[in-house]
Amino acid sequence: MTVDAPAGDLVPAPERTPDEVLVAGEWRRGGGAPVETVDPATGRTLTVLAGADATDVDEAARRAATAAADPRWRGLPAHRRARLLHRIADLIEADADRISALQTADTGKCRAETLALAHSAAGTFRYTAAALETAEDAVTPARGDYVTMSLHEPIGVIGAITPWNSPIASDAQKLAPALAAGNAVLLKPAEWTPLVALALGRIVHRALTEAALPTGLLSVLPGPGAVTGDAIVRHPAVGKIAFTGGTRTGRALAHAAADKLMPVSLELGGKSPTIVLEDADLEQALAGVLFGIFSSSGQSCVAGSRLFVARARYDAFVGALVARAKALRVGPGSDPATQVAPLVHHRHRDSVAAYVDLARTEGAHVLCGGAAPEGERYRDGAYYLPTVLDGLPNSARACQEEIFGPVLIVLPFDDEDDLVAQANDTVYGLACGLWTRDAARAWRLARRIDAGTVWINTYKQFSGSTPFGGMKDSGLGREKGRDGIRGYQRQKSLYWGTDGAPLPWAASR
Ligand code: NAD
Repeated sequence: MTVDAPAGDLVPAPERTPDEVLVAGEWRRGGGAPVETVDPATGRTLTVLAGADATDVDEAARRAATAAADPRWRGLPAHRRARLLHRIADLIEADADRISALQTADTGKCRAETLALAHSAAGTFRYTAAALETAEDAVTPARGDYVTMSLHEPIGVIGAITPWNSPIASDAQKLAPALAAGNAVLLKPAEWTPLVALALGRIVHRALTEAALPTGLLSVLPGPGAVTGDAIVRHPAVGKIAFTGGTRTGRALAHAAADKLMPVSLELGGKSPTIVLEDADLEQALAGVLFGIFSSSGQSCVAGSRLFVARARYDAFVGALVARAKALRVGPGSDPATQVAPLVHHRHRDSVAAYVDLARTEGAHVLCGGAAPEGERYRDGAYYLPTVLDGLPNSARACQEEIFGPVLIVLPFDDEDDLVAQANDTVYGLACGLWTRDAARAWRLARRIDAGTVWINTYKQFSGSTPFGGMKDSGLGREKGRDGIRGYQRQKSLYWGTDGAPLPWAASR
């Protein structure tokens, strides 16, 4: 195996993307409905794929089960599986620039962000390889004449279903641990952004081929959720669903998984509070709050979309924040100067605009934004201005529902109890940001707020070694960290008698 130069045709330019899906290692035209992907900066159609239909899914799942059971894969020791993951990371890194360009075209995101996401996906494969090589099964304390062990085995076939907002990160977060654990994977990207998953499919396919491993271990199956996704979830060969997406979809998948008594992990939506206490450093808090909501144009599950500011600092802080929000540079993701890129799709921009209109009817004051930008540059793109609203109670729909766009709602608070009550008054529990110089208060509040991740004096930082997931309606289970691989395995306990004697009847201990 070599660490080589750019991976050739692994990542086609958007205009050359073949209309193929990957069915158990075989590239072919899907049998399903067309999937159109659009560059949201221009409105131009990038490609129209033939999506995978239920027949493609059935074949992919059956062949995945065969590949998962293939002794070349099933018997592969951990350090050799780790080598495969490193090879995938090498190929991603070698092609990071083109993956980044492809993802910017597909999602609209800024190039700096998509480049960082590509490298972070490679990092996910590398961290998972390290965790895999050092994972240990336990010999448990015996209570009789036997040795007891707790073993971890692959589930078999994993359905990985991902959203459009950070495709390569979500895909890698599932693919790396699922393969590390010894499974085969059916990857279903979102309808609006299938291109990066297909590029990742080419990379994994190449790495499997080079290593003479069964190529049926990976399928990439774009298509509508209600058709392709549903067929994956209900297929009898699929033993687990790893899902990232909206809470409504996640709940439906959990119901379907319950029918099969199949495990499911759910990374869902959020309405995360960021909190500025009286003593927060102004510059640090301003930069953090702006980044927390307006980076990725607010299309981030952890977007800090509700800002709570101590009443004593409210007017000064919000005034400075609005001035900064107005100065953010809106433009195409391909322009290095851009800070706020277009939204993923014109239909999503319309949904964000509808939420701002709803907020107006609920009594919101629009402090800035609240419209698409004007001018020739923005005419055809799915742009929306960074928007700051206040004047709403936390019970308003705009404060309770995930908007998933560049819309920040600011609310004052009086004291810690009032703050905690408002911050936790949401069905979600994904993330929280705290800006303060008071360590004791930071610690106290971090423990009182319902959130899977709390950032103190920083925001939207992610580490592969730190578990990630939500509380309440934000999800079930954790990804990443040393235990991330365990979510893709089944546990088996083994008792091995050692004294060779027949069991006495009264052996119960
Ligand atoms: P979505 O729920 O509409 O779709 C997510 C995926 O599920 C897509 O691939 C879609 O095709 C598929 N799907 C839809 N219906 C399905 C069905 N019936 N059966 C099987 N699959 C189905 O979400 P979205 O709009 O693509 O993404 C945005 C959402 O994702 C937001 O709510 C965001 O907060 C959430 N998200 C969460 C995290 C996290 O880690 N917690 C990360 C990113 C995004």
